[in-house]
Amino acid sequence: MIIPKTAEEIELMRESALIVSKTLGMLAAEVKPGVTSLHLDKLAEEFIRDHDAIPGFLGLYDFPNTLCMSPNAQVVHGIPNDTPYEEGDIISIDCGAIKNGFYGDHAYTFPVGEIAPEVEQLLKVTKESLYVGIAQFKKGNRTGDVGYAIQQHCEQHGYGVVRELVGHGLGRTMHEDPEMPNYGRRGRGKKFVEGMTVAIEPMINLGTHRIEQLKDGWTILTRDRKPSAHFEHNVALVDGKPELLSTFGYIYQALGIESDEETPFRAAALVL
Ligand code: MG
Ligand code: MG
Repeated sequence: MIIPKTAEEIELMRESALIVSKTLGMLAAEVKPGVTSLHLDKLAEEFIRDHDAIPGFLGLYDFPNTLCMSPNAQVVHGIPNDTPYEEGDIISIDCGAIKNGFYGDHAYTFPVGEIAPEVEQLLKVTKESLYVGIAQFKKGNRTGDVGYAIQQHCEQHGYGVVRELVGHGLGRTMHEDPEMPNYGRRGRGKKFVEGMTVAIEPMINLGTHRIEQLKDGWTILTRDRKPSAHFEHNVALVDGKPELLSTFGYIYQALGIESDEETPFRAAALVL
């Protein structure tokens, strides 16, 4: 059952999402060769608690940490460890926070120094597909419209679209209806309703879409061990249109990147 939110609840969700956005912005400046995921995980936990919020993943389904840290061939749900990053790695950081009883949940894949051109292209196209999908999150459309758009955008580059893991509704719990697959057929799936809030999150592989899980019960990685990228935003359906609750703006501020990718979906009132 889809749970639409009131305008007041959407503002609270924006608050939670922006705490995650700021956390990712703080981490952006720290991602470099020699740094470990465990170190970043500690920084993130402190940062979230300093903002009067609670880490959203820590203890959720017994997950042991604040961040899901998934380098290179890991798709999602990687557990932070003490392996230092190396130049040329990519690291997908997925972060959750709870404030006022509502979850924020978003993710970005960071390059560590210079990365191979084909991997840079994977990151670029995966992030593009996120916005291509968000544009379809509008009145009259269904989950299949978003999935179709993401899938088409990525498969035309020859990439693999992960099937087993999907986006989701988001609110007072981490995973609400509906499921938001990154593949699908136009006009199929659950119909969108005003006030609903979702996490849209393409998980895209350079090679095969097939995945497997490590024996730790968490880590998902590509079956061919080629790299995988993951970008995630939280979005509300407001006046029939997609409105971003999260922003990559803090990441771009930290990294000195100019971008207008969010402009069509950004709330007018958002000031970074
Ligand atoms: Mg996430
Ligand atoms: Mg999510």
